[in-house]
Amino acid sequence: MEPGQDWKIAALTFLAYVHFFNGVDRMNSKYMELAIKEAQLALEENEVPIGAVIVKDNKIIAKAHNMKEKKQDATKHAEIIAIQKASKKIKNWRLIDCDIYVTLFPCPMCASALQQARIRNLYYTLENTDSKCMKISKQIFEKNNTNQTVNYEQLICEDKSLALLQKFFQKKR
Ligand SMILES: [Zn+2]
Repeated sequence: MEPGQDWKIAALTFLAYVHFFNGVDRMNSKYMELAIKEAQLALEENEVPIGAVIVKDNKIIAKAHNMKEKKQDATKHAEIIAIQKASKKIKNWRLIDCDIYVTLFPCPMCASALQQARIRNLYYTLENTDSKCMKISKQIFEKNNTNQTVNYEQLICEDKSLALLQKFFQKKR
């Protein structure tokens, strides 16, 4: 992977723009902003910019960003690392009453992990440009054997920023 400067500038501009949320619950925005900060850290480390924050009882129990390149591990997605950190923090694999804030709608691997971990709500800003991926993840959240569902909701942010990051992902993938 040899990332150019143009996508970096585009993604950084996106990160700056996303700070302007309109009509979104204040706490939700705060947590999403932190997830975006995590995405920014990933970007600085030449990783695909995805960040995640897990919240329980209005407290942040985990923050993480994509570390696939750094760790040379295909499973080191932001959501997976966040789940691991949160479980360690509360000493329980069941993340009951926990909500996750992610910058991009999760891939099927992460969707399964979130469902297995019993995450309550998932908030995301950007939809995955891979519509097949989105469809599978949504099916995982909605339908499963254990009757455990993950609610998901998109937090709408400024259109221009959305276009910028979408551009980044379309180019990268
Ligand atoms: Zn993932």
